[in-house]
Amino acid sequence: SQTAAKIAAGEVITDPAAVVKELVENSIDASSENIRIEIENGGKALIRVVDDGEGINEADVFNAFKRHGTSKIKKIDDLDNLHTLGFRGEALASMAAVSKVTLRTSDSDDGLGTGLRLIEGKGEKQAISCKRGTSISIEEIFFNTPARLKHMKKPGDENKKIIQIVQVLSMSHPEVSFSLLMDNSEVLRTPGKGGLENTLKSLFGERFDSELFKADYQNSPMEIEGFLGSPYYTKKTRDYQFVFINNRYVREIKINKAIEDAYDNTVMINQHPVFILNIKLPPDMLDVNIHPAKTKIKILNESLVMLLLKSGIRKIIRQNLV
Ligand code: ADP
Ligand code: MG
Repeated sequence: SQTAAKIAAGEVITDPAAVVKELVENSIDASSENIRIEIENGGKALIRVVDDGEGINEADVFNAFKRHGTSKIKKIDDLDNLHTLGFRGEALASMAAVSKVTLRTSDSDDGLGTGLRLIEGKGEKQAISCKRGTSISIEEIFFNTPARLKHMKKPGDENKKIIQIVQVLSMSHPEVSFSLLMDNSEVLRTPGKGGLENTLKSLFGERFDSELFKADYQNSPMEIEGFLGSPYYTKKTRDYQFVFINNRYVREIKINKAIEDAYDNTVMINQHPVFILNIKLPPDMLDVNIHPAKTKIKILNESLVMLLLKSGIRKIIRQNLV
């Protein structure tokens, strides 16, 4: 029913940033090389993701919006594969339940494709002219779920969450070119080639070369790779600190704090260093029961891991600054 659909949607689609994440992950799963994200009024008016991926066949467009309407194989080999499954066919169905959705897609190179506009899950498909790829527009999110609508933050705050998600997605996929437009102005563009380093250059600008140094540290069972900022490259917030564990983005402030600790007071008070780090740990040191879509993680034997982390970061800092 409509009500059940809206309730289910609430678990997947919590805010515009969650929509962006789901749409972009679908674009990546469809082997897209270029992904453009357009946002209007903090995502309240419009969230649009345009890709040049495989597209959806005309016969499958309605199925894509059905609950559990996934085309992806339901085989879970390991944690990494779980990511590909997303919410197992829930995302588009959930978006359709709480917004006005427009799909334009083509899975061929003949310039023809399928268009579909769904309001409260209803709509007709039609033949359209369309390049290979998919464009999904989410308009008036939560227009029919007032409680959610009321909980939306100011456009600037929703935009901040969206930027963060797109930054993380672009770091995890340097082979894909991302562009993000907010109210028609470009806030981010990555090249899609030249690896992570070029992606980071486009995200951080000039200071990447001068004030971020490469981290490459091994001390069994931990490895640390990525880029660590000098004590002079700091920000007022922790928004420029990106931590991945085994390539998965995590947001556990105690990890950020442990890394900051290792700077041993070389950073000015109330300032936060910049870093993009991937911490590699044996999977048996992590609790696999935490949902892979969440940015939380549980580390077993946490105190040991924190000690290893601090000493690793100290070493990287010392090697690069002396
Ligand atoms: P899931 O990703 O878990 O399969 P979704 O609801 O996110 O579920 O998507 C449903 C289906 O729609 C996908 O399995 C895929 O077949 C199709 N789909 C969605 N977005 C795209 C896209 N950008 N390109 C190609 N196919 C897509
Ligand atoms: Mg999906």
